Amino acid sequence: MAMISNLETRMFLRPSIFRLWTSRGIQTTINSRQNYTQATGRQRLVILGTGWGSYSVLKHINKKLFDVIVISPRNHFLFTPLLCSTTVGTLEFRSIIEPIRNTGFRDEHHFQLAEAVKLLPDEHTVLCRSSLNNDEYPLKYDKLVIGVGAVSNTFGVPGVHENAFFLKEIADARKIRNQILKNFELAMQPGVSEEEKKRLLHFVIVGGGPTGVEFGAELYDFVKQDVTRLYVHEKSKVSVTLIEARQILPSFDEKLRNFAEKKMRQREQFELVQSSVTEVHSDHIKLQDGTVMPCSLVVWSTGLAPRPFTASVDLPKNANSQILVDQYLKVKGINDGSVFAIGDCSCIEANPYPCTAQVAEREGSYVASCLGLLAMGQASELKPFSWKNLGMLAYVGDYQGLADFPTSKLQGFKSWILWRSVYFTKLGSWRARFQVPFDWMRTFIWGRDVSQF
Ligand SMILES: Cc1cc2nc3c(=O)[nH]c(=O)nc-3n(C[C@H](O)[C@H](O)[C@H](O)COP(=O)(O)OP(=O)(O)OC[C@H]3O[C@@H](n4cnc5c(N)ncnc54)[C@H](O)[C@@H]3O)c2cc1C
Repeated sequence: MAMISNLETRMFLRPSIFRLWTSRGIQTTINSRQNYTQATGRQRLVILGTGWGSYSVLKHINKKLFDVIVISPRNHFLFTPLLCSTTVGTLEFRSIIEPIRNTGFRDEHHFQLAEAVKLLPDEHTVLCRSSLNNDEYPLKYDKLVIGVGAVSNTFGVPGVHENAFFLKEIADARKIRNQILKNFELAMQPGVSEEEKKRLLHFVIVGGGPTGVEFGAELYDFVKQDVTRLYVHEKSKVSVTLIEARQILPSFDEKLRNFAEKKMRQREQFELVQSSVTEVHSDHIKLQDGTVMPCSLVVWSTGLAPRPFTASVDLPKNANSQILVDQYLKVKGINDGSVFAIGDCSCIEANPYPCTAQVAEREGSYVASCLGLLAMGQASELKPFSWKNLGMLAYVGDYQGLADFPTSKLQGFKSWILWRSVYFTKLGSWRARFQVPFDWMRTFIWGRDVSQF
């Protein structure tokens, strides 16, 4: 009771916050917030997204100079390089996410679970839609950073949206893990024919980029280490097919690519197929040459396409529908320099960089420092954005990794150690640095948890 009255008193003293408490009051609040911002002398910085780019802005921005408001349908940061490990239970979901509210907002209302739906650059306004009740409201900004990422490209293949699984978010990994476990349990039901068992235990991966290859690697480890132990009589019916139209891991050095391909081809029950998928159905896929492949799970991981918000923005874009930015990451077509775009949703017109976490994170810290210099009136000190490739790592299963550094190319067990060590050190918090090795250890000693719920 004392707590409630204390809360009410605080709300009464800060009426603008109290209005934000109810969705209907949001618009009024936003307007009153403008005065609040002016009164504090800080500019309002609105950040869209909580991914690699946006999270990096949030961590590096000088909060003494800005009131930072984050809009995202996701209230956590996701460490994507380890996402594949959660699909089979090598790692647990919560070990690789970081609650965004731990980042130290000045005011708890400065994170809003919503998505940007429309940009009105002339009015310095972004229209947002609540992810909880779909209410729409305008949000004014002095400076805006767009870091909404991208979605998987389906290339218009029929049935992908309805029947395939994507692997971009923690919720996707959760769905995949549940589906795999469900299929194993279905295959163990009495009366299931041999043919149906084979279909239920046939997993297809479309796309041979790092995500497809690493998911295949995790699936292989799961089959080798856990299925052989838990499903002794049916293990021979399990099969994994990776379908890639061109070559796997195209961004990696040829020697490493060949090593990965050789490893995959050596594996029993693992098939690498060079083809394109033309149709995806609930129980089979069709390939370009007409082959029909019965299967129970299709994971689709082929390139990037714009998010609906990026697609809706009426600004200059490249052929991949990424927002074009200049060398200072300012959005082209907005002359007052108030809007920046970073990460997978954007492209530096003069110097395109790959769509990776490494680039997005670096762009985020760069924009944070740019905004600081601009706010302090030191625009002359701004230097164009540049990025140096630190190297790429990938896991190919069975304790084998690839390490593609500008000066050296490594493969095998040592690269796997490197893969784990680098990602361990890159994890964003001590909590994650405790949980991830703990999960690795747990999996090593007791195997993966195959409970389905
Ligand atoms: C499984 C997997 C493994 C990967 N492994 C690696 C790796 O090992 N190394 C590497 O460098 N890269 C890796 N990547 C690529 C890397 O994750 C991306 O390049 C990176 O996430 C891009 O960062 P971003 O900030 O642009 O977007 P994201 O990290 O995708 O974040 C986008 C954010 O925007 C939010 N959002 C979406 N729509 C809206 C909206 N309308 N309004 C507001 N917010 C919105 C999303 O919820 C999310 O929080 C991997 C990707 C995947 C999927």
